[in-house]
Amino acid sequence: MLQDSIINVKGIGEKFADDLQSLNISTIEDLLFYFPSRYDVVEILPLSELIHEDKVTIEGRVLNTPSLSFFGRKKSRLTFNVEVENVAIKAVMFNRAFAKKQLNMGDTVTLTGKWDAHRLQITVSNYQKGSLERSSDIQPIYSVRGDVTSYRLKKAIQQAIHDYGNEIEEILPRDLLASYKIPSRNKAVKTMHFPKSRQALKHARRRFTYEEFLLFQLKIQILRKRRREATAGNEQVYDDIKLNQFIDQFPFKLTNAQSKSLNQILSDMKSPYRMNRLLQGDVGSGKTAVAAIALYASITAKKQGALMVPTEILAEQHFQSLQDMFGDLVRVELLTGSVKGKKRREILQDLADDRVNILVGTHALIQDDVIFKDLGLVVVDEQHRFGVEQRRALSNKGLYPDVLFMTATPIPRTLAITAFGDMDVSVIDEMPAGRKEIETYWTKANTFDRVLRFIEKHIADGEQAYIICPLIEESDKLDIQDAVDLYNQLIEYYPPAIRVGLMHGRLHASEKDEVMKQFAANEVQVLVSTTVVEVGVNVPNATIMVIYDAERFGLSQLHQLRGRVGRGDKQSYCILIADPKSETGKERMRIMTETNNGFELSEQDLKLRGPGDFFGTKQSGLPEFKVADMIHDYRALETARDDASEIIEFNLLETDSTYRNLRNLLEKEGVFDTVLD
Ligand code: ADP
Ligand code: MG
Repeated sequence: MLQDSIINVKGIGEKFADDLQSLNISTIEDLLFYFPSRYDVVEILPLSELIHEDKVTIEGRVLNTPSLSFFGRKKSRLTFNVEVENVAIKAVMFNRAFAKKQLNMGDTVTLTGKWDAHRLQITVSNYQKGSLERSSDIQPIYSVRGDVTSYRLKKAIQQAIHDYGNEIEEILPRDLLASYKIPSRNKAVKTMHFPKSRQALKHARRRFTYEEFLLFQLKIQILRKRRREATAGNEQVYDDIKLNQFIDQFPFKLTNAQSKSLNQILSDMKSPYRMNRLLQGDVGSGKTAVAAIALYASITAKKQGALMVPTEILAEQHFQSLQDMFGDLVRVELLTGSVKGKKRREILQDLADDRVNILVGTHALIQDDVIFKDLGLVVVDEQHRFGVEQRRALSNKGLYPDVLFMTATPIPRTLAITAFGDMDVSVIDEMPAGRKEIETYWTKANTFDRVLRFIEKHIADGEQAYIICPLIEESDKLDIQDAVDLYNQLIEYYPPAIRVGLMHGRLHASEKDEVMKQFAANEVQVLVSTTVVEVGVNVPNATIMVIYDAERFGLSQLHQLRGRVGRGDKQSYCILIADPKSETGKERMRIMTETNNGFELSEQDLKLRGPGDFFGTKQSGLPEFKVADMIHDYRALETARDDASEIIEFNLLETDSTYRNLRNLLEKEGVFDTVLD
């Protein structure tokens, strides 16, 4: 049986079985599915095409009896000549004295090794008597460690395939195999290990790519369905008339993208299922307006709403703008770590009595003593800073509100499918009309003087500027020093009428607040800052964003920073100061100057940096695939997602017997009964 221990495979003893554990191989199935990490393609090229110092393969006839010499204790050197294309090539082989007996004058041999084009010499790492069976050969390379050698592993896999290969059952329905023209599972396993041709390997990889994606998509979609249904019973019956009145009193008309997203949200709220939706949109695309309408819908449904944000500054800003929007219509309160004592007790009491309609705040919102009368909707801003923990904290209070996550970090389509596959996604991909595009320039550090004069000119017109110094980690003293130094320089440089402020992560929350308030009130004209201003802060009068050492940021982050300006009616500018060394670095700067579209940037960023880097190291939350590659195989990913939706929609796992093996596999992995969070 495939589930049996590898000890059953002929040739694998206790010791080797133990060693294989370090590669996470314990069953025969594990062994069979331990695919090569890459392949070496051996191809015999004409001598004229061999590249000096490359690893090459040649085929020729042995011209003389190899001569063997020893040096050191166990070291030896075997040399002989081979004739290739009528040229005598010198072959050198180290520490393989035994080969002397095997290689005789006149034998045909195939040699692989490092090529020296000047001396017409090959240092042999591998040899084989006779010709290659095919003119090209694909060698699997396994990642191995410790006592497991690639050679032994390959032998073991060969044996396992021979004895157990036919037990590998197909899990995909025959129809699917046929329509995608992909090989059966057991055939594909053999090909992955011992490919007969590039073509065959391609098909085998295609098969496992699809299989991995399909399984993954089925898992998250089943989870999503279970989560929705497990919390049935929270329909929010909102008041259409009141809601439309509220929308009509906005000084603008919603964009099409806003209306579409809003409708998706409202229909989730109306449904008996729990909403778990991500609202994506560039900075300034009007997400907050949509969220406010959704919160109001909740209130007309006689429930309460909460808006959770990552920082106190943001909480205050949102609190302010919600109060402006709602006026006397609803009661909004602010709860952060700095709201204490009597004020806090009052808010909590009124919240419990349903006299507070909307509570805005930081993590403080989900502390134990915060009790809502009837929480209908939670809006979470900048979702990547919150997660499962927070959701669990709410559930633990017996609350299953609809949840709307908002993010201004555009997630590339491909990543969204995988990283947020268990969520529904709404996208605002359109800016309100009449916005002026931010003009972006890239300049070298030696032009900083000109940049400072440019800022001065705009300050004379009543505008303000940010200057960002990179900060890779909050705790990095050196980086803060950059900001402090720059701040001191600017105080010297500008006349006293131009006030310069300083902001960084080491400041106390109240100090940060103070600086931000001064900047918002235009008491400070130039704000030197680390990236702590990245998220959400809104100062419409600021029109210039200067980013120092811009090459140290990823595209998405640069775009986020740029989004701090361009919030008023005046023309805004983003100036990137960077001397990137690498081509990718230069490419990033160019892309920034060419597009203002966050989604386009995120796709480019993904291509330049890869998915691992995309969310930062810790938060990646991305699954690991053995064969599939999310970027290159995104078509397969989309196909798999659509197929998974269909399988679930038509309940094929339960009703169609050709899906039985697939169903059993998912069941074995606990997909139908894991505990939901
Ligand atoms: P986001 O939360 O996506 O950054 P906001 O909702 O804060 O965006 O909107 C940014 C600015 O645009 C706000 O001043 C808001 O009043 C305004 N706004 C939102 N929607 C529209 C619209 N449809 N037309 C014009 N202005 C809008
Ligand atoms: Mg609902």
